[in-house]
Amino acid sequence: MEISHDTEGLPVKIAIRKPLDGHEHLRRDSMLKMVGPMVAKRFRAAIVMPNTVPPITTESQVCGYLKEIWQATGPDFLPLMTLYLTDTLEPSHVEALVGVGTVKGIKYYPRGLTTNSDSGVKNPSSLWTSGTRPYECLQALAEHGGVLLLHAADGFDENGVELDPFDQEKHFIEHTLPRIRDAHPKLKISVEHLSTKWGVEYLLKHGGPLLGCSLTAQHLLLDRRDWLRGGFHPQRFWWPIIQPTEHREALRVLAKADKPFVWLGSDSAPHPVEKKRADCCAGGVLMAHAGIELYVEAFENMGALDDRFERFASINGARFYGLGDSDETIELVREEWTVRHSPHIADGGTSKEVIPFRLGEKIRWKLVA
Ligand SMILES: [Zn+2]
Repeated sequence: MEISHDTEGLPVKIAIRKPLDGHEHLRRDSMLKMVGPMVAKRFRAAIVMPNTVPPITTESQVCGYLKEIWQATGPDFLPLMTLYLTDTLEPSHVEALVGVGTVKGIKYYPRGLTTNSDSGVKNPSSLWTSGTRPYECLQALAEHGGVLLLHAADGFDENGVELDPFDQEKHFIEHTLPRIRDAHPKLKISVEHLSTKWGVEYLLKHGGPLLGCSLTAQHLLLDRRDWLRGGFHPQRFWWPIIQPTEHREALRVLAKADKPFVWLGSDSAPHPVEKKRADCCAGGVLMAHAGIELYVEAFENMGALDDRFERFASINGARFYGLGDSDETIELVREEWTVRHSPHIADGGTSKEVIPFRLGEKIRWKLVA
């Protein structure tokens, strides 16, 4: 990473290899047309989440989605596709698609716990119980070197009692993840958007070539106080739920620790405004409009805006997913700007507002276009 300072020693400009976004919801149709160019400007590639409607589970769906993505991003952007793990996903599809590299991994969604997760696996035990479809899919995935991407949350404990949302990741890390790893010892696993100190402790102990995690900028920047200060802020509501300060601090320790098994995954997850300002507010927010800028700010706040940042953003995730280091670079300058624009998407002739993260607030770093 190249970094320039002003006369007072303040960093004013950085250049890094073009990064990879390890967790991106590009959506479809008009939303994809809006989000795609934002992502392609900042990232060379992204792991594309499959929880569209309908979910991505077959070769023809993967190919159709890929074509639509390239129409929005242009051909230089590399979408790394994933399949949605359902109770009926065909192991033969996994074998065929991961075997030739069309698909990089499978995403596990616990049913009902996040956006468009109704098709998710009903019983987490099927991930480690031989004879079930999900188990067979993970076997095929491991055999072909694909990655299991985990939404690391359990909805219920062993007695069927509903878990508190703030304990969903803790339960998964302590009970579900070890069982998956025992049942599939050769499987590459990425814990997505790690959000708790319990997750951090586990990763620091067990992280390595077969187990890594992605971190979001929003979990590094905010904590539960920001979500509920003066009332409920729908634009700061996402899954996994925003935790108290001690968890944010643990995530910062992990991000600064310069571990090769920790990387950027923005979890940019836009919704039309009516889904956010609704009786049941949808989790997720648009981050793609400042998808790298917010991470620069987070790393600067942590005192880690140095080579560690480039490894986190551009190298660790890319290597985990089998990509070489990028030859392209992007530049960012210290130039404060206000998120004023509230993007609109035309859907069936009507205009729909999507509120970006930090609307009306300032962002300290700017991408050099
Ligand atoms: Zn997500």
